[in-house]
Amino acid sequence: MERDPDVIAGYLTDASNLRGRAEALFRPTTAHEVAAILRRAQADGVPVTPSAARTATTGSACPDGGWIVSLERMRAIVGFDGDVVAAQAGVGLADLDALLEGHGRFFPPDPTSWRSCTLGGAIATDASGARSFRYGATRRWVEALDVVLPTGDLIRARRGDPIPADWPRVQRPPSAVKSAAGYAAAADCVDVFVGQEGTLGIVTQAWVRSLPVVPVVGLFVFCPDRGVAAAMSDAARRAARADASGAVSPRCIEYFDRAALALISDLTPRAAAGAALFVEQPIVRGLDAHLGAWLELVDAVGATADDVWAATDRDGLDRMHAARHAVPARVNERLVRAGLPKIGTDLAVPDAAMSRMFDAYEAAPVPSVLFGHLGDNHLHLNLLPRSVDEVAAARAYHHALAAAAIDSGGTLSAEHGIGRVKKAWFEEFAPPDLLVSSRALKQRLDPGWILSRGVMFDAATPRGAAG
Ligand SMILES: Cc1cc2nc3c(=O)[nH]c(=O)nc-3n(C[C@H](O)[C@H](O)[C@H](O)COP(=O)(O)OP(=O)(O)OC[C@H]3O[C@@H](n4cnc5c(N)ncnc54)[C@H](O)[C@@H]3O)c2cc1C
Repeated sequence: MERDPDVIAGYLTDASNLRGRAEALFRPTTAHEVAAILRRAQADGVPVTPSAARTATTGSACPDGGWIVSLERMRAIVGFDGDVVAAQAGVGLADLDALLEGHGRFFPPDPTSWRSCTLGGAIATDASGARSFRYGATRRWVEALDVVLPTGDLIRARRGDPIPADWPRVQRPPSAVKSAAGYAAAADCVDVFVGQEGTLGIVTQAWVRSLPVVPVVGLFVFCPDRGVAAAMSDAARRAARADASGAVSPRCIEYFDRAALALISDLTPRAAAGAALFVEQPIVRGLDAHLGAWLELVDAVGATADDVWAATDRDGLDRMHAARHAVPARVNERLVRAGLPKIGTDLAVPDAAMSRMFDAYEAAPVPSVLFGHLGDNHLHLNLLPRSVDEVAAARAYHHALAAAAIDSGGTLSAEHGIGRVKKAWFEEFAPPDLLVSSRALKQRLDPGWILSRGVMFDAATPRGAAG
C-alpha cells in the first residue's frame, strides 16, 4: 500500500482533467492480491477506483476518496493460441498489437488513444474507434475474462456462460446506434463486465480475438464542402452494407470539417479544403479494382481525383494516421494553453437524423472543430470557448445537442462512456427501467457500493462518502 501523497498525486486525474482524491494506492501483481484488497475494502466500506492508463475522457478513472487499484503491474501477455490472445488487463493495446503483428494479426478495436491505453481500460469502457465501422466495439472481440468481484470473489466468465440466475437483468431498449452509455443488456456473463466502467468488477485477465492483417489503401479525399463529403460517406456506407467485401467496402469513414483540416494543414498535402473524408479500404480484390471504384464514387459526388491523397505503404498510412490522431491532440493543446475546459460531444444518431445533427453541429455558438466517425454517424464536436461566458454557452449547447440526439433514437455516448462527467445527464436521459435495473445489478454485485462509487449513476439512496 502506497500512502505518499506525491506518488498518489499522479493517479488523481484522467483525460477529463477532473481532479480526484485518494488516501492510498495499490499496485497489485496478481488477481489474488486484487481480491484481498477488495475483500478488505468491502469489509471497511472503503471506496475503490480501478485505474489503468487514465486516458478516460469522462472522469471514470478519477477516484473520489478511498483507494486506487492500479493495474499497471499486471501487463503480461500470457499466451497466444490460434486467433485468441490472453493477456493481463494492464497490458497496453500498443504492446498487444506489437505481439500480434509478429504473428501477422491485429486487434480490431482501435481507440485513437491506442498508443497509451490498456486492454482492461478498453474492455471496461467498451472502447471503439475509427475501425468500429467495420469491426464493432471491443465487446465483440472479448472471449473470456477473469474478474474480481467487489466482494473479492474471483470468477472466470467465458462467452456463452449464462448470467447467474440471481443477478438482476439490465433492461435496455434495443439501439439503432453504437452506444457506450450505461450497462449492456448482457447476453452472457462476459457482456456484464464489458462497458461497466469499473463499477461491477476489476478485470485482471482477458482472452481476446484477433484478425489476420489485411493490406489496406488509405484515401484522404478533400471535398469542397460538407455536402460532398456526406454524400460520399452515405454512398460508401450503402456499398459496404450491400457487400462487405466489395470494391467499395471501407473499414472506416472519418470526417474532418474545415477547422479540423486547418489544425493539421502541416500534416496533409492540402492546406485548405471545405471538408475531408479519410477511409481505409481493405484490399481484397486487387488494388486497381478498389481504386477504380473509389475514383468513380469521388467523381459521382462532385469531388475530383486531384483531391485524393492515397497511400498503401506503411509510411504513407502512418502519415495519414498521424494526421487523423493529431486533431484531438491539437484541440487539447489549444485548450490547455487557454486554460479552458474542453467540451466535446460523443453523440451518435441513426442514419435518418445525421443531416439534422450536422446542421446543429455547424450552428455551434462558440468556435468549434468537428471530426470523427461519420460511418457510424458519430462525430466529435469539440467546442472551444474563449471565456467563462462562452463555457456556459457551450455547455448549454452540448446539453441541447444531447437531448436532440437522444430524441432521434441516438445515444449520449457512443464510445467514451459516462464516467463522472456525464452522470447527471445519463440519469436525466436514461430510460427509467435501465436505471432501476442497473442499480439493482450494482447492488447485487457490490452491496457496499465500494467500486467506482459515483461513476455512471448514483445509488437511488445516496451512500455516505467514505474514505
Ligand atoms: C486522445 C484520446 C483519444 C481517445 N480516443 C478514443 C477512441 O477513439 N475511442 C474510445 O472508445 N475511447 C477513446 N478515448 C477514451 C479512452 O482512451 C478509452 O476509453 C480507453 O479505452 C481507456 O483506457 P485506459 O487504459 O486509459 O483506462 P482508464 O482511463 O485508466 O480507465 C477507464 C475506465 O475503466 C476502468 N478500468 C480500467 N481498467 C480496468 C480493469 N482492469 N477492470 C475494471 N475496470 C477498469 C476505470 O476505473 C475507468 O472507469 C480517447 C482518449 C484520449 C485521451
